Order: sequence, then structure tokens, then C-alpha cells
Amino acid sequence: MIIDQFNRVHDYLRISLTERCNLRCFYCMPEEGILLRPRSEFMSAEEVIEMAKVFVSLGVKKIRLTGGEPLVRKDAKKIIADLALLPVELAITTNGILIDDCLCTFKSSGIKSINVSLDSLKKERFNSISRRNYFDKVTSNINLLLKENFHVKINAVVIKGVNDDEICDFVAWTRDKNVHLRFIEFMPFLGNKWDWSKGVSFKEIITKIEKQYGDDVIKLKDAVNDTAKNYSVKNHMGTFAIISSVTNPFCDTCNRMRLTADGKIKNCLFSGTETDLLSAMRNGEDIVPLILESIWNKKRIRGGMNSFEDFSDPSRFQKNRSMVSIGG
Ligand code: SAM
Ligand code: SF4
Ligand code: SF4
Repeated sequence: MIIDQFNRVHDYLRISLTERCNLRCFYCMPEEGILLRPRSEFMSAEEVIEMAKVFVSLGVKKIRLTGGEPLVRKDAKKIIADLALLPVELAITTNGILIDDCLCTFKSSGIKSINVSLDSLKKERFNSISRRNYFDKVTSNINLLLKENFHVKINAVVIKGVNDDEICDFVAWTRDKNVHLRFIEFMPFLGNKWDWSKGVSFKEIITKIEKQYGDDVIKLKDAVNDTAKNYSVKNHMGTFAIISSVTNPFCDTCNRMRLTADGKIKNCLFSGTETDLLSAMRNGEDIVPLILESIWNKKRIRGGMNSFEDFSDPSRFQKNRSMVSIGG
């Protein structure tokens, strides 16, 4: 069992398959892009599987593939198929562009739930946020997933003056679409020019929705390790949720750890420190003690940013990587 000093059992691993991406979302990817490094510095498909097996032997029950954009990796389908042979629930977070190409692999691998990022329902705006022109592709792939009866979660990072005027439009979208929308508070990472004046809090989001929908807003039950507060609106097919990583963290029940594409374990999304598992594995060392030690040393809240005030000191999060290279 992988456990920390606060008795939190870690059974959920997020693996980043690549730092590369076919979008350039301004809140995730630094404007200048990220430094491209030789392929040899990243986990091969075989190493991903070998790592995953070690984590599974330590009690991991769920693996989520992420990135960068996990599906841009040429061997993504093989990795998915091989991971599907392990006794874990397999999930994926994707920007949606390559979903149609991977649908058969998702089905044959037993993936049932897919998270797709969509920050605007307006084509021009989506394309401007992501600095590319894939709105039609992403939305048609979301429809494809729904047609094929996948459980579809939609991630939208809410940013003031960018898309906060669409909060109620997104909720209206769930009336006839069986999607599970998740509004995410804007988080700080290296190079994303974060400051909380651009953030929209959980409270502001729910207040806007309640103003529009009043008593029709229904609070749903949240799962134990759920990072989201879940809601629905009466008679809507879909649901919505708010992920309040900044104003109201959900660290008490955290069961998550991350493996970056270059094989480093991060015990928390906001942790400034990492442990290099890939080099150790390549040197033939046992990586189990490294995993256990990394998680044991995990801070109780947001990598040590215990209060909201800590966000006003950039040195607290500038040691962290950009989100595209952590694996969201
Ligand atoms: N490329 C895939 C995608 O966009 O879904 C997977 C990787 S992406 C880093 C994972 C999630 O992190 C996305 O939903 C994205 O919106 C979210 N994300 C990235 N930067 C963020 C930030 N600064 N604040 C909040 N969420 C962020
Ligand atoms: Fe790429 Fe996802 Fe980051 Fe957008 S949020 S730049 S799609 S990794
Ligand atoms: Fe877990 Fe860190 Fe996220 Fe808190 S901030 S829920 S400790 S990963």
C-alpha cells in the first residue's frame, strides 16, 4: 500500500504520456512553448508499462493517461491496449482532437469514461484560447463519444474576461446533452502568467448558476475522493461540477500521484520536488522504496501552500513545471 504521513492511501496514478501537444492553451502552455528534449529522456512504451506494473503491485486501482496530449504519441494505442491488461480502471484526459482515430482502441481496452477539455462553446473563442483551429473537430468528437455511450466529462478552466460569461451557457448545454461538465478554477503553473484577479472562484461560479436556475439547482452526492462538487439542474440530462483547487482544496482525501512523461514521480500537483524513477529503473534499481518515500513525504495541502494567501507569493509555485509538462 502507498501511504503518506496523514494516512492517505494512494491508489490513483496519473501518467503523462508526453509533454507535446497539438494545442497551445494559453493557461497551460507557456507562450514560448516548452523546451523539446530528446526522446531518450522520456519513458518508452515498455517503460510506461513496467512503471505501471510496479504501481499496481503497490495497490494502484486506477490509472489516468494524460499529458500534454496523450493521443499525439504514435504508440498511444499500444500503451492503452497493454495497460488494459492490468487489473486497473483505465481512464484518459484528452483535448479530443484524435478521439475518432482512437475509438476502437478505447472500446477494446474497456475505457468507459473520457475527459475532454473544452473551454468555450464559441468557435472563435475556443480557437483563440487554444491558439489553434480545432473547435469543429473537438465538438464532433464529443458528439461521437456520446453516440457511442461513453461517460463524457468536459473540463472547462474558467478565466475572468475570457469565458466566465459562458458559465450559464455551459450549464444550459447539459439540458439535452448527457455530459458531465466540470468548471475548474484557474491554477498557477510556471509560465502561465497566473494571478488570481483572472480567477473565478467556486463561490462566484455557483452564485451565477443559482441566480439563473434558482431552486432547480440540485446538489448531488460527491464520491469520497472526488475533487469536484457535483450538481445538476432539474430536468437536465447532464450534470455540472466545480473543482475548487485554489479557493477550497480537497486535499484531505487525496489519493492521487503523478508520473511525468520523463519518469519522475510528483506526489502532488503543486509539489516543487520530484523523484526520478526512470533513471533508477534504467540503472536496475528497485523503484519501490523511492515511490514509498516520495509519497510518505507528501505535504498535507497543495505541496505546502497551506493557505490561499500562499498563492500571492509566486516563488511558492514558480518552482513547479508548466501544466503541459506535469500532466494535468
Ligand atoms: N491535453 C489534455 C487536455 O487538455 O485535456 C490533457 C492534459 S491537460 C494539462 C489536463 C487538464 O489540465 C485540462 O483539462 C486542462 O484544462 C487543465 N489545465 C491545464 N492548465 C490549467 C490551469 N492553469 N488551471 C487549471 N486547469 C488547467
Ligand atoms: Fe495541450 Fe491540454 Fe495543455 Fe491545452 S490543456 S495545451 S490541450 S495539454
Ligand atoms: Fe492532492 Fe496536491 Fe491536489 Fe491537494 S493539491 S488534492 S494534495 S494533488
